[in-house]
Formats: sequence, C-alpha cells, structure tokens
Amino acid sequence: MTRWTYSKGLHDLGNGCHAWLQPDGTWGYSNAGLVVDGKDCLLVDTLFDLPLTREMLAGMRRAVPQAARIDTLVNTHSNGDHTFGNQLVEGAQIIAARGCAEEMAERPAETFQAMMANWRTMGEAGAFLHEVMGARFDFRNIVHTPPTQVFNGEMSVRVGGKEVRLVEVGPAHTRGDVIVYVPQDRVVFTGDILFVGGHPVVWAGPVSNWIKACDLMLSWDIETVVPGHGPITDKKGVRDLKQYLEFILVEARKRYDAGMSDADAVRDIAWDAFRDWTDPERVFVNVAAAYRDFRADGKPLDVMRLFTLMAQAHNARKAACGHGHAH
Ligand SMILES: [Zn+2]
Repeated sequence: MTRWTYSKGLHDLGNGCHAWLQPDGTWGYSNAGLVVDGKDCLLVDTLFDLPLTREMLAGMRRAVPQAARIDTLVNTHSNGDHTFGNQLVEGAQIIAARGCAEEMAERPAETFQAMMANWRTMGEAGAFLHEVMGARFDFRNIVHTPPTQVFNGEMSVRVGGKEVRLVEVGPAHTRGDVIVYVPQDRVVFTGDILFVGGHPVVWAGPVSNWIKACDLMLSWDIETVVPGHGPITDKKGVRDLKQYLEFILVEARKRYDAGMSDADAVRDIAWDAFRDWTDPERVFVNVAAAYRDFRADGKPLDVMRLFTLMAQAHNARKAACGHGHAH
C-alpha cells in the first residue's frame, strides 16, 4: 500500500505527473502538484509562504525543465496554504472556482498576515494560531494575488496533449473546492477535499456535500490520489475520509437530537478509530459544522469560539503528554 514514501519534496508519479509533499501535513503543511506534457505545465496550488513556495518552484525546475515557465496555476481553494505563494508563479493564468476567488477577496493575505502579527490580542485562540502557524511560517511580503479566471461546475484544460479536468465539489472544506483530475494518467489532486492521516476541517460544509465529493472520486477509474495534506494514497484514503465524515454525521446527530451542545458532543463521542490522526482538536469544528447542517439556519460558524475550543483541547493534550509537544 505504501508505494510512495512520505518525504519532503518532489515525487514523480509517472507520465509527467508530480507531487510536492510537506510532511507531516499538519496546519499549513500542504501538498501541491505538477502536470507536464510537451512544453506545457500546470501547477496545482502554491504554499503557505514565499520561502516555501520558492523552494518548491526551484525543486520542480531542477527535475522538470518545463516548470521554468508555468502557464497555468489552479488554486484548489482559498486557504493560504494553497494560495499565498501565487505571486511567484509569474505570468501564469490562475484558475479557481468562483467561491474560492470570493473568499480570497474577503480574506486577503494581508489581513491574515496582520491577524498573525497581532496574535497576542486574541487570547488562547491567538496563542494557538501563533504556535501552529505564526511561529512556523514567514508571512512577510505576501501580496494578494487572486485568480484571473473563475468558473462554476466543471472546466477542462489542455496541458500539451493531455486533458485535465477541474471539478468543483464544494462548498465543503471551503466555499469553492476544486479537485484536479487527469483521466488518462488515473491521477487526482484533491486539494483539501482529502486529508490523509490527519483530521480534515469542515470550514464551509455541508458535510453531505463532502461525502458526495468522496463518492465522485470513488466512481472514477483512478489509482493515484494526492491529498491536500498527508501522504499519497489511492481510493483507500478516500474511503477512510468518507467513513470519518459519515461517522461524524451519525454520532453528532444522536447528540444534537438529545439536546447536547456541540462542544459536549465532541467530548462524548468515542474517537478511538481516529486515534492516530494528527490535529484531533479539529473535531470541534467538524461537529459544529454538522450541527449547523442539522439546524439548517445558514449561520456561519463562530470561528474564534472554535479556535478557542481547539486551543484548549490542544493545550490539555500537551499537558497530559507532559513534554511540551503535541502528538
Ligand atoms: Zn490546506
């Protein structure tokens, strides 16, 4: 099953498809992809800061001369760990779902940068954000670089003689999630529709939409799946995540119907099946997202409340383990 090693850097998937991996896939450590045919080159996502993106582009150019000029960049969604390096892919058209472009405009890199710089004013949530993101990345000099072409639904791009299908499956992880499918190579780059070995985060939902996205991928003839975070997988990784989302819907529903709060539901649910997954504090977001689906009132999640709950869970886990780092 572990045909691919999970090490930092470029991995040749064959037929001109490549993945750039960043273990261990926790907050901000995302994967990217490269599809090459003839002289043409398509990049799937940039990274969280400029130094990391620069290092990735240099690594791609060393292995793949065509990457010196990337014609097309696809942003799978709006989160900074997939878009903050956009400005370094000079001259490329940038394609994304309309919902992705909207979120990027609402929360430009500069706003995020300012929030990270002011973490001390945001209590426990701020300290957590600083620990898991602010202190690990270099957010200087990032300039908001939005998509140049947006779409809804599906579009097809040609890379040399190859067809690359961009399929919008959100809202799920965010408002505009796109997966990048190369049918002739049986490869899919999922963006954050797939996390492997770590808890996903349901920022947008509905959860049922995300399950549909898993079913769609499972219906395709694919053999190599590059997740947004975590090691390269195949359909097993997709099945595991689908099961996780179904588990959340079932367990959260019982407790919602019993009148339990979302935070109490998180503490009550037995998460043993996912004991080895990174970032377990994210269950607070995911159960809150399921509750919102049940209420169907369309109210956005209270992100600061959820970051505070995540911070408390994260700190409690660190204290329990007694040596200052998180498992
Ligand atoms: Zn991500």
